[in-house]
Amino acid sequence: MQYVEFGKTGIKVSRLGFGAMRLPTYQKDNKTCFDEDKGIELLRRGYELGINYFDTAPTYCESTSEVTVGKAIKPFRDKIYLSTKNPIENASGDDYDKRLENSLKRLDTDHIDFYHFWGINLDSFVNKICAPDGPLARVKKWNEQGVVRHISFSFHDKPEHMIEIIKRGEGIFESLLCQYNLLDQSNTAGIEFARKQGIGIVVMGPVGGGRLGAPSPAIAALLPGKVQSSAELAMRFVFSNPNINIALSGMGNLKMLEENVATASNIQPLTADEQEQIAASLQENERLAGLYCTGCKYCMPCPFGVNIPEIFTLMNYHRVYKITDYAKENYAQIGNVPWRDYKNAAACTKCGTCEEKCPQKLPIRKQLEETHKVLAV
Ligand code: SF4
Ligand code: SF4
Repeated sequence: MQYVEFGKTGIKVSRLGFGAMRLPTYQKDNKTCFDEDKGIELLRRGYELGINYFDTAPTYCESTSEVTVGKAIKPFRDKIYLSTKNPIENASGDDYDKRLENSLKRLDTDHIDFYHFWGINLDSFVNKICAPDGPLARVKKWNEQGVVRHISFSFHDKPEHMIEIIKRGEGIFESLLCQYNLLDQSNTAGIEFARKQGIGIVVMGPVGGGRLGAPSPAIAALLPGKVQSSAELAMRFVFSNPNINIALSGMGNLKMLEENVATASNIQPLTADEQEQIAASLQENERLAGLYCTGCKYCMPCPFGVNIPEIFTLMNYHRVYKITDYAKENYAQIGNVPWRDYKNAAACTKCGTCEEKCPQKLPIRKQLEETHKVLAV
């Protein structure tokens, strides 16, 4: 396993982090249940293989993850860094405290190393977290008492808002967790800014599918002959960005864990030539799929609120890279989360305005219709 300095914390973290959101399951009476014993075994194996950063959250694995992680790490609690999250439901400091106390109980620990404001955006940061005697005021107290060792946030918003949140945070954040992968590099500038402020960077979803082990021959073929698997390419891509410290992977079985550890133990960052080759392959794949949207946005704005290039990006996840579940999950977010505050393809009235402006001459209306058929569930 390789280790790096984690921002300005003075801590060295393993480059692979264990995301405890897909722990082992079994079937009983047609229901999926989480297997605590196997989960503990897997997490402990992760530690034996060198992972020292474990990330969980109150609702992961149908709210069993924190308890399983707490039991698993008990024998080596002081040798690892534990990360969990507080969902910011409102501006109440008391509610924030209760949720923190509940996490401490479930994890059976007296401190959390990296405690995240969970899935925040600029609006929730300004209006809830920063409220008088709200979550920000409370976390500072917990921090002074040593219960929260480092204050962190996980980010789900428009990329430009990451920088704004960091600036408004006035130096309290020591790490952040955000999306960044081969297929979604939209947070690149925010990550660079954060790193310059000394913030440790953890990325989730190193492969679009959310797990490094997700097999996608189309992804592995972006660099033919140079990588064994999509997991390896995804990891190498992430670590070629010098601003990134940890790739967090949700691992649900031993095979996935061992493969990811093997890759993280021998990271060869991509060369400039390899990065160029990948960029060219990404473009070529989209062109071959007949959906070569350059993301130029000349078609925007759509008078009916459809975000055409964003929707085509999601369609490519399905059509080109065959990570269809991920595409569907993201498509379902449209109109329901702040960072996808637009309409999905069903809102297209077929007025045709966009097609007149598209330099690629894409049959936008037809492709939107196809996209909705495939991704709407
Ligand atoms: S054709 Fe559809 S997507 Fe294009 S501008 Fe009209 S409503 Fe918007
Ligand atoms: S104008 Fe065409 S190529 Fe540009 S973003 Fe819109 S659909 Fe894509």
